[in-house]
Amino acid sequence: MNCEICGSKIYGPSKRIILEGSKLLVCMKCSNLGEPDINTERYPSRTKRRTLGTPVRKRTGESRLPREVEEMEVAENFPKIIKEAREKKKMSQQDLARTVKERLSIIQKIELGKMTPDLRISRALEHTLRIKLLLPRSEIPVETGKPDQTGLTLGDVIQYKKK
Ligand SMILES: [Zn+2]
Repeated sequence: MNCEICGSKIYGPSKRIILEGSKLLVCMKCSNLGEPDINTERYPSRTKRRTLGTPVRKRTGESRLPREVEEMEVAENFPKIIKEAREKKKMSQQDLARTVKERLSIIQKIELGKMTPDLRISRALEHTLRIKLLLPRSEIPVETGKPDQTGLTLGDVIQYKKK
């Protein structure tokens, strides 16, 4: 490869320049004779650098409530818990409805297990009746034959099944 200006062999890096409107490949010595050819000197990687659609996780106060709803679950036996606690406090369903600011029909449906109380009602019921209704999802015991609930070990269960 030879310098297009001085004609000598180019050792090392060559330069592209624009001299009087024509693009030339020249040696380092001749490179200051013209303007650097900007088009070829631009780094192609610059256009690739843009990161595409990286999701930014926002941690704002707004996300707190939905997260809580998602992670809390009403205890499975809520009708029993509510009914027993209410009767212990000698409250009628009407009393309870008034206290938690809900319609009587809602309280009736909840106590019959026909309706699961939402977060707001659950909180109100917890407060009024001093009970625990809401459990974090992860703490809800999975009822798939846990040995400690029946007092049976896994071996006992297997033996029992064999009979
Ligand atoms: Zn040269």
